[in-house]
Amino acid sequence: DIPVLCIDGPTASGKGTLASEVAHRLGYHYLDSGALYRVTALAARRAGLDLVPANEAAIAGLARSLPVRFSQGHILLGGIDVSEAIRTEEAGMNASRVSTLPAVRTALLALQHGFRRLPGLVADGRDMGTVIFPAAPMKVYLTASAGQRAERRHKQLISKGIPATIDSLRQALEARDARDSSRPVAPLKPAADSLLLDNSSLSIEESVAQVLQWWDA
Ligand code: C5P
Repeated sequence: DIPVLCIDGPTASGKGTLASEVAHRLGYHYLDSGALYRVTALAARRAGLDLVPANEAAIAGLARSLPVRFSQGHILLGGIDVSEAIRTEEAGMNASRVSTLPAVRTALLALQHGFRRLPGLVADGRDMGTVIFPAAPMKVYLTASAGQRAERRHKQLISKGIPATIDSLRQALEARDARDSSRPVAPLKPAADSLLLDNSSLSIEESVAQVLQWWDA
């Protein structure tokens, strides 16, 4: 049996940082499922498709045969490095738009399940524990206050020289969480058997240590 450790939670809660570090420490594979929705939205936009329900079948078609590759921390779409392009706030909101379309979620199922390989997988997203890997032996639901999350995102952007205000970032992430939590299919919510981790006042290392301690227990 190949073990899967799921880390779900709202936007900018630090899932990616935590999940990739835990995967690294355990020597496991890592699935950044949000990147798949981001890449799908980007591919759709580049194909000239508006991200609206009328285009659900066409976007799902793109998602089903997405020429995406993960290579040394970079994400390639059709051989082109889109790592930067998918990380903008707009790309996040576009990902959230396509993620409400049920056919798109179905189209990305097999791709996500394919990441479950020996010796194990750490998967981060919104529905890893509830929908994609419901039988996973451990599920963490990671949260932080909206204020904390907006501040962290602000620091990240400023360090890259991208101007932004904490207030507008907070508004954007709360809007994205609202959409992710209210969609009918695979809404963002803690799995019934998840462990809650609020990292508002924890360092990255403290969060990693907590998850590894739960994993070893
Ligand atoms: O985690 P990240 O911010 O990259 O996710 C981008 C968007 O993709 C989320 O806001 C959410 O709408 C969608 N998503 C999802 N299910 C996942 C991962 C991400 O619906 N498992």
